[in-house]
Amino acid sequence: MTDYKIVLLKGDGIGPEIVNQAVKVLDKTAEKFDFTVEYDEALLGGCAIDATGVPLPDETVEKCKKADSVLLGAVGGPKWDNQPGNNRPEAGLLGIRGALGLFANLRPAVIFEPLKGASPIKDEIIGGTLDIMIVRELTGGIYFGEKGRKEVNGNPAAYDTEMYTVPEIERIARVAFDLAMKRNKKLTSVDKANVLESSRLWRETVIRISKEYPEVELNHLYVDNCAMQLVINPSQFDVIVTSNIFGDILSDEASMISGSIGMLASASLSEGKSGLYEPIHGSAPDIAGLGIANPLATILSVAMMLRYSLDRPKAADAIENAVSTVLKDYRTPDIYAEGTTKVSTDEMGDLICNAL
Ligand code: NAD
Repeated sequence: MTDYKIVLLKGDGIGPEIVNQAVKVLDKTAEKFDFTVEYDEALLGGCAIDATGVPLPDETVEKCKKADSVLLGAVGGPKWDNQPGNNRPEAGLLGIRGALGLFANLRPAVIFEPLKGASPIKDEIIGGTLDIMIVRELTGGIYFGEKGRKEVNGNPAAYDTEMYTVPEIERIARVAFDLAMKRNKKLTSVDKANVLESSRLWRETVIRISKEYPEVELNHLYVDNCAMQLVINPSQFDVIVTSNIFGDILSDEASMISGSIGMLASASLSEGKSGLYEPIHGSAPDIAGLGIANPLATILSVAMMLRYSLDRPKAADAIENAVSTVLKDYRTPDIYAEGTTKVSTDEMGDLICNAL
């Protein structure tokens, strides 16, 4: 009997190339840790528009809902740039997140020791190592609040509304506290409680939930201060929890500390165990088909899947360790440095399998 059913949404551009490497690595990991995985493929993004006319066919939603987990490559590209907004490949991405109820976005900002030199932050500021997990609320707040245009004193005006309900804050806070418990038991909640009423409710609620987690050290930062602290003292952070809009900005800032877009994984979780795992980068149409894309962000997304959806933390550790080992000597062109050997997408996948 198969242990896990995974849906692959390979998508567009480099999507298929990098997902194929991740599958190779997951198969090798399954063999080593004695479990079985069954794959199903479904269409999302530009390839879905070409085949069915829409970026998110109903069949894709149905398949993903039944799966234990979903692995996504990337979607989009110039071919579909003239599609109307609601039929662009990216609309499929928003659609699948909504359909699966993915309310928690986990974005690790990690520096692998061999890549320290690629970070724009000086070594002495980073200190020994950097391993931050940003937990962003993904389905509420100002991106989904009431918005519109009106006239104010005869002038055209526009507005967007930041609103959070207590249950929305409670559930994202619990995700963050649970993660902190599995890591270094330190959580920073980020808000703008000196100005925003929604942030004051956010802070009150996070403090109340913290009583359920007496072992976790909780502190609060205003978002402007957090943006500064990420650059001047990033190693103070373990887990950061914040709203949709603040998380959108801070997670991009934090991820750039690692120095390479081809290395960054992400997870989006729903209530329960299932989730959608994907690299943070896009479909890189400029290098699609050349066999030079870095597959490590997607491979590291598989490690996150094993840890957060499939309860296989040792298998996740093994993949992360293999990545760290291989990076000492081998690099895809985007992270190449003198003294290492340049390899293709496919060779990188094989090297990770061998290191496992
Ligand atoms: P991008 O992330 O695709 O590419 C930015 C730059 O980084 C490019 O030079 C690219 O070659 C490079 N790059 C990205 N991933 C790489 C990898 N794994 N290995 C080596 N180099 C890599 O961003 P973009 O160019 O702004 O967007 C391209 C398309 O992707 C657009 O259609 C955009 O809408 C879409 N997009 C999709 C997602 C997603 O699917 N989640 C996210 C962002 C952008």
